[in-house]
Amino acid sequence: MDILIYSPDGKTAPYETSLAEHLREANIRGWQPGDAAPADYLVLWKPNAEVLLPRARLKAIFNLGAGVDGVLGTRGEGAHHLPPGVPLVRLEDAGMADQMAQYVSAAALRYFRRLDVFDAQQAQGQWKFQKPNRLTDFPVAVLGYGTLGAHVAKALKAFGFPVRAWRRSQRGEGMHDSGIELHHGDAGFDACVSGARILVNLLPLTPQTENVLNAHLFAKLAQGAFLINVARGAHLVEDDLLAALDSGQIAGATLDVFRTEPLPADHPFWRAPRVTITPHISALTLRDETVAQIAGKIAALERGEAITGIVDPTRGY
Ligand code: NAP
Repeated sequence: MDILIYSPDGKTAPYETSLAEHLREANIRGWQPGDAAPADYLVLWKPNAEVLLPRARLKAIFNLGAGVDGVLGTRGEGAHHLPPGVPLVRLEDAGMADQMAQYVSAAALRYFRRLDVFDAQQAQGQWKFQKPNRLTDFPVAVLGYGTLGAHVAKALKAFGFPVRAWRRSQRGEGMHDSGIELHHGDAGFDACVSGARILVNLLPLTPQTENVLNAHLFAKLAQGAFLINVARGAHLVEDDLLAALDSGQIAGATLDVFRTEPLPADHPFWRAPRVTITPHISALTLRDETVAQIAGKIAALERGEAITGIVDPTRGY
């Protein structure tokens, strides 16, 4: 069995070593320019078109992340580069769900417990009481109720926040799951976000979800709401956020992802006092968990078994 690994930075060696420990019979190689040789499996992140050229024997392509916009393109324009009939498989959790729950809970609790306000007061040398918030006044709306969104929603629920979530389709769980109010489709969007005090974005980036975090949505939230964007930068209309921060409609934003990464030095977000910036670290791809998951799926495919996590390129996730 031949496995070809690609990463834009060329640093594939740690993955080659780690995968070889799980799949001892496999020939594993890192991609070099001009490599058009056969491979049974491709393991990759943000591939160029050359990596994706049809290869003899190719059975599956594994993406080294949960989001596949780096393969399909923001508007699905990369889908036609995929070799026909070869499944694209994304990472499912692989240690990311716990990281995401920690990050979003930390940001939500910071706003709820007013630590952002106390930070600002400390900078002014102010010792000043702030009236505590009530959980009942802090409904959270989570956009995306998939592997990560559902885990995050449940973590927030455990802190006592009233939590609503939004997904594309209605599933078996009905209108509630673990105390979380579920909404779906275009018809369910307003009921999910209306009056929310915290908005968390965990949608995949697809043609339908690009620019979803916009002025129209911000106006539906409670006055002085908070935004936590941990999905993709292209979900957010940046000028709309800056305007909503100016007007007070949005009281603060925690942003882990940006349209251009690294965030350019002259970007206004750096100087916006109520914007918290982190460098795309909310949920990192953990090599051990990732390799174990991919190796397990390769072994299952070799036994002729079905696997989960196969992306639907027409849906975009
Ligand atoms: P997932 O399991 O595929 O879940 C996606 C969720 O979004 C599903 O609930 C899906 O609805 C919903 N959805 C998709 N399109 C929709 C639409 N048009 N309208 C309403 N709901 C829609 O994905 P995941 O593993 O949770 O990951 C989510 C995203 O997180 C990734 O795509 C990636 O962009 C981002 N991410 C960021 C980081 C980071 O470090 N910042 C790390 C990992 C992932 P259904 O349930 O009906 O299918």
